[in-house]
Amino acid sequence: MVKRKLCEPLENHKGNLYFDGLSVEELAKKYDTPLYVISEKRIRENYNRLYTAVASKYKDVRIYYACKANTNLTVLKILQSEGAYLDAVSPCEVFMGLNSGFTPDRILFTGTSVRNDELKFLVDAGITVNIDSQSELDRLLKIAVPPTISVRVNPEIGDGHHDHCITAGPQTKFGLWEEDALKVYATAKKARVERFGIHMHIGSGFLGIDSYVQAVKKLLSIAKRVHDELDIVFDFIDLGGGFGVPYHPDEKELNLSEFTSKVVSRFKSKVKDYHLGKPFLHIEPGRYLVCDASILLTTVNTVKVTPHRKFLGVDAGFNTLVRPAMYGAYHQVLVANKLDRKNTETFDVVGPICESGDVLAKDRELPSVVEGDVLAILNAGAYGFSMSSQYNSRPRAAEVMIRQGKPVLVREREQFQDLLATQRTVQQ
Ligand SMILES: *Cc1c(COP(=O)(O)O)cnc(C)c1O
Repeated sequence: MVKRKLCEPLENHKGNLYFDGLSVEELAKKYDTPLYVISEKRIRENYNRLYTAVASKYKDVRIYYACKANTNLTVLKILQSEGAYLDAVSPCEVFMGLNSGFTPDRILFTGTSVRNDELKFLVDAGITVNIDSQSELDRLLKIAVPPTISVRVNPEIGDGHHDHCITAGPQTKFGLWEEDALKVYATAKKARVERFGIHMHIGSGFLGIDSYVQAVKKLLSIAKRVHDELDIVFDFIDLGGGFGVPYHPDEKELNLSEFTSKVVSRFKSKVKDYHLGKPFLHIEPGRYLVCDASILLTTVNTVKVTPHRKFLGVDAGFNTLVRPAMYGAYHQVLVANKLDRKNTETFDVVGPICESGDVLAKDRELPSVVEGDVLAILNAGAYGFSMSSQYNSRPRAAEVMIRQGKPVLVREREQFQDLLATQRTVQQ
């Protein structure tokens, strides 16, 4: 017998998987699968761990939750109640933030390829816009002169778990290069914008922080130039997000004390050296706050052995969790009722989508699995439900939140009718 050691909020109760105190098999039975299960407690812990670490070195810190990772309204409300701010990348994310109790002054909009009507919506709602191009600023100023402008700069170095998720450096569409950023600030100043921020976000899902440290250095040197040449004082300096979490058992979690000493302490001393005043330090984690706070439950419906491979056919596919198919991402898989069994077989865990790329886990060593077993896909809280789709005309999954030891349904499972809701049929 093996005894699998698990990290909070996962627990091994005599070989059965519990999540935030509840049996996942019972949750699967009660709510059916595929099912996202979210731990309120873990989200709060993640937020407070990060906040405490950063605030211990620089007290004027604000944590902006980059909500594209998970826009469940209850998740937004939890972070709102913790005192988080919100980073939104689309008007609807702003709308959801406002509906979850974030006041406009607690929301930053960081969009790209932004339309004029979207800019109008943001200005009318009183949301600070993080400018991504000269064009965006010029078009915004034709609508109104906002009191505050932030500029997303490209600090010339990016990082991320996949090419798609590197959002700084030479190949990216995001942000403004140094000289162009200076021009944008000059334009804003001339238009009598009164308050300013500066921003970077170099990518998503990095565990080592060397590139990030270098990017912060570059960002601060650009901030100094803007300050010196244009006499602009920053209300805030936003270092973006992207802090990774370990998906693979061999990966190590982000070293928070290294982060605070190499990033936050240096930030503090550079701000002083460069005479940048007393700006708020913003960081924008998405994944870090929500990823390990959720698992995806899926039931095995088919065990299929071919001359070449063994497949576990489950009811979640890349329509439910796209990260493996889209990024080749690794997600740990546990068999909910067999935690203490030895791994004796190698399976591909595959979904119901009619594409061969519909693989949640490949070549995975697992105990002997039978039809009806429930699998838990770990670290599903970030870019899980939020990237899910209705491909193959499959309704999206339900979401359950564990609150003080009790499960609460926070998103209903979609039904067939939901897929038809916006279609109009034409008489033949
Ligand atoms: C996506 C995004 C983030 C957060 O990325 P994570 O990897 O989830 O931390 C932060 N800022 C901006 C502007 C983003 O687009």
